[in-house]
Order: sequence, then structure tokens, then C-alpha cells
Amino acid sequence: MNMIQPHSIDPEEDDDMDIRSVSHGLYIGGTWRPSRSGRRIEVVDPSSEAVISAVPDATIADALDAVEAAAAAAESWRSTPPRKRSDILRRCFELMVARAETLAALISLENGKALRDARGEVAYAAEFFRWNAEEAVRITGEFGVAPSGTNRIVVDYQPIGIAVLITPWNFPAAMATRKIAPALAAGCTVILKPASETPLTAYALAALYEEAGVPPGVVNVITTTDPGGVTAAMLADRRVRKLSFTGSTGVGRMLLAEAARHVISCSMELGGNAPFIVFDDADLEAALDGAMVAKMRNAGEACTAANRIFVQSGIHDAFAEGLARRMAALRVGAGIAGDTECGPMITRKAVAKIDGLVKDAVARGADIRCGGAPLDGRGFFYPPTVLTGVSPQSAMSVEEIFGPVAPIYRFETEDEVVARANDTEYGLAAYLFTRDMGRGMRVAARLESGMIGLNRGLVSDPAAPFGGVKQSGLGREGGQHHGIAEFMEAKYIATSF
Ligand code: NAP
Repeated sequence: MNMIQPHSIDPEEDDDMDIRSVSHGLYIGGTWRPSRSGRRIEVVDPSSEAVISAVPDATIADALDAVEAAAAAAESWRSTPPRKRSDILRRCFELMVARAETLAALISLENGKALRDARGEVAYAAEFFRWNAEEAVRITGEFGVAPSGTNRIVVDYQPIGIAVLITPWNFPAAMATRKIAPALAAGCTVILKPASETPLTAYALAALYEEAGVPPGVVNVITTTDPGGVTAAMLADRRVRKLSFTGSTGVGRMLLAEAARHVISCSMELGGNAPFIVFDDADLEAALDGAMVAKMRNAGEACTAANRIFVQSGIHDAFAEGLARRMAALRVGAGIAGDTECGPMITRKAVAKIDGLVKDAVARGADIRCGGAPLDGRGFFYPPTVLTGVSPQSAMSVEEIFGPVAPIYRFETEDEVVARANDTEYGLAAYLFTRDMGRGMRVAARLESGMIGLNRGLVSDPAAPFGGVKQSGLGREGGQHHGIAEFMEAKYIATSF
């Protein structure tokens, strides 16, 4: 492992990223304002632990103002011609692409991820606007004859109403645009509550939407240290008809219960525990390439991250050696440093959690092949780590690691690995590598997972439905009609003529 010296970013000296240009206000009804309490939330650079900015800490009254603003803009936005909405979304895409370097630097600064990952995120996040600009003009209804022949059945798709969107810190841009773009394409107005650790990207994007022509009140952004209270108050407002959440399964469960009180439609993108399966007949180098992407994109802080790596006996030792060599060679450092390959974790607490999981696995007999302990010094760094001989009883085999730790489990047969891969409450992503496409498709069909990477370590694509089964969530984002459908409701009209 190569350690690049972590350093803090001085915004005064950085030409690419001037964080003073990010508006530091709640964005409500097209205006920037402080919170009613005057309190603020500090934003920390996880590479240096320096406070780099502060954003308003919204109260419940602020949140209700945001609902008011979304309600005031709702009628006009839903009756805006689809072509016009499409043009505005397209402009959002173009502006994001034009500002890609600045946005990537901002993401890297507040989240810590390597600049190369941040650039990838901006490209992915922008694509949701391009894709939904294209979809916005293709929302159609249905028309048919009732089986009795007595009447016609007309089905019209209408915007569901005001949507509350809640996003996590691990993809500060993409998790937001994956919701905002389809909601706007469908004709909904929204209130976004981004994660407290990474609010700057959400506010920077809000300014960009305004520049692209998104009218005041159509997108509102608030940050708060009281997410539970603020969300409950917004959901209790009868005009709010949708909750779209991305985050942990635990918080998702609580929000489903809260939404149930008001019978609000929910989309849930929750946690994962992805199996990554390598059969004996796999192309070893391709499987290693795939594992590096599936494990190390975002330094392992991804819901789709390979969490349990199952390797068949015949290829196990060569794979473990190859993975340890590649992981140990990664350059660790501040995300914003150009040559970093693995940035810091989001918080000190996250490092402590990963450390606890590794210690537990080692206590249960695992061998450390590289890494294995937090790095000293400033910043929340944990090194790329490979473990072999990991016991299925280890906590990391049931919990999301959410860090750069790759536990390898040996297996013998196809039936065995399918059973072990499915032995989890989660079902978001799964990966498998084999040269036998018959087996690949057969195993893909048997895995209880919303998304499968077959000889690929990356599945995310705005044009494909993203989402999980079991406790990994409800609903889909992206895809030809799936993402927009989450923000629409079918209205059936019976008529005779
Ligand atoms: P988290 O703790 O669940 O937080 C996610 C968001 O929910 C944040 O904005 C957070 O606000 C907010 N929140 C927390 N408590 C809340 C409450 N009681 N009511 C309303 N909102 C509340 O998750 P995280 O640690 O940020 O993100 C990591 C998790 O997200 C992992 O489990 C990961 O797998 C999952 N994830 C899933 C997907 C997917 O597409 N399936 C994608 C990315 C991440 P604060 O920041 O203010 O606490």
C-alpha cells in the first residue's frame, strides 16, 4: 500500500474548487436563506478532519416552508409541456457535464472519495438528466375495450404529487439526481434532504438547476440535524404524496412505518450484502478486475460493493494472491489528490466499525493478507485489506462492511455457493464470474438479488432498473419506465361512446 500524505484543501488556494462559491443557505422556493433557528451544521473534510464549511440546520418550520414552496409550484410544473420539461432536464445534463471538474472536486472534498471516483460519479449523475429528458416526452397512457364490450378503458398517468427525497453521503450527486430527474420528468415538485456529511454538492447542484431553468419551488433543498422530526412533519402534510429514500435498511424501516401512518407511496433503496462468486472456470484476470471495481469503487463505500467474495477451491489460492497484490498496491490518500486510488472513510466512527469487523473476523480464524488496521495520523483512513479463511459466523458475513475490506470464503459446489450467497436478509447486487454462460445464466436466475453482474464488476446504468429485493428495498430507479413510474399514478377512466 502506498500512502500519499493527506492534506487539507485551502479553498483560497485551489483554483478548481472555490467552496465559497457554494451557496450556504437552505434552498426554498428559489431563494437562499438561513434556518429559522440560525443554527448551522459543520462540514468536515474526511482527509484532514478540517471543518471546510457550514450549512443551515433546518427546523420543522423551515421544512414546512419547503413543502409550501413545492405546493405553490406544483400546478404550474405539472402543466408545463413535457417538451419544455425535457429541455430543462437536458440543460441540467449539459451544465453538469460542463462543470464536471468543479463538481467532482467538491464531491471529493466533502466525501473524501478519490477524484477518479468523483469524476465517474458526476458522469453517472448527469446521465440521469439526459436519460429522463429523453423519457419525459415518452410518457404515454393506455386505451382499450373492456372485456364485457360495454365501455372503453382509458388509463392516464399523472404526477403523483409532492415528493420528499432523502439521500445518503456515499454518492452526494448521483443519489440525488437519480431521484430528482425522474420526479421532474414525471411532473412532480420535490424537497431534497441530503446527508448531513455531504450537503455542499446538493446545494451546488440546486444552483445549477436554477441556472438550467428549473422554476422556483420545483426543487427545494434543506439540511437538518433532526431528520426524523423534519421528515415526520413533511410526511404529515397531506400534500406530500411520495417518499423516495436511499440509505440504510434500519432507517428505511422506520420511514416505512412513518409513511404508513399517512399511506404515502414509498420507494426504498436500502443496504446490501453483495456476494461476488468466482467459479473455477472463470477468467482469473477478468475476475480480479471485476473484484477491484465491485469492491473498491468509492473505497468500498457503496451499497453494491462486493461484501462476501466466494471463490471455488480450484482457483481460490491464485485469486486470493492476485487480489491481495492488487489491493496492497493501491495508493491511499486524500481524495482530492490526483493520484489517489483509495480515499478516507466518511467518519472516524466508520473506521471504528470496519476495524471492529476485521478484529472479529481475525478472532474467528481469518488470515490478514494485506492491510488489517487503521492508519495513524489525521484523516479517517483504513487501508485496502484482504482476509482469507473468513468464518461464515463472522459479523462481516452478515453486516455491510462499507469499507475497503475484502473477505474471501472458499466454496466447493454450485448448489453450496447459491445457498450461501442467498443466506442474507439483503438482495441488492450480486456478481458471478464463469466462462460457462449456461451456468452464468442459471446461477443468475437462482440468486435472490435485484441486480446481477455476470462477468462484470459494475452494474449501475441510468438506462437499467436499479434496486433490490428482500430487505434491500422497494421499487426501482432508472430504467426505461421504472424510475419515472415511481413518481406517477395511474388514473383509470371508464367511458362509453
Ligand atoms: P442512513 O444513516 O440511513 O442515512 C441516509 C439518509 O437518511 C441521510 O440523509 C440521513 O440524514 C437520513 N436519516 C437518518 N435518520 C433519519 C430519520 N430518522 N428520518 C429521516 N431521515 C433520516 O445511511 P447512510 O449511512 O447515510 O448511507 C449508507 C447506507 O445507504 C448503506 O446501508 C448503503 O447500503 C445505503 N445505500 C443504498 C443505496 C441503494 O441504492 N440501495 C445507495 C447508496 C447507499 P443525516 O445524514 O442527517 O443523518
